[in-house]
Amino acid sequence: MAEDTIFGKIIRREIPAAIVYEDDLCLAFKDVNPQAPVHVLLIPKKPLPQLSAATPEDHALLGHLLLKAKEVAADLGIGDQFRLVINNGAEVGQTVFHLHLHILGDRPFSWPPG
Ligand code: C5P
Repeated sequence: MAEDTIFGKIIRREIPAAIVYEDDLCLAFKDVNPQAPVHVLLIPKKPLPQLSAATPEDHALLGHLLLKAKEVAADLGIGDQFRLVINNGAEVGQTVFHLHLHILGDRPFSWPPG
């Protein structure tokens, strides 16, 4: 099993978070340091440390996360204009080692990302 992280504590309600969606497999909550007017993190309840640790066993879970990401985006009013980000590894900006999708929107974005 992966190491526990601050997101594990959020799942177990040991620390507060502004939760916007939850089901049996995943949880979405507002990022505490938002980088856009809408910035939500969508996490699996299974403590996968990062996408590169996923296995074929996670096939359905990963599909579920993508479909929920677009539904959460729609619920937050950014259903046709949003960016999804997964930082995989410390060198590309991952700081919490529990897989999470950043759902960002409600402002213009540039490319390439920094
Ligand atoms: O992709 P990365 O690992 O850098 O993203 C972690 C994110 O978790 C950050 O955007 C940070 O603001 C957020 N965070 C949070 N609540 C916490 C700890 C971190 O929303 N308690």
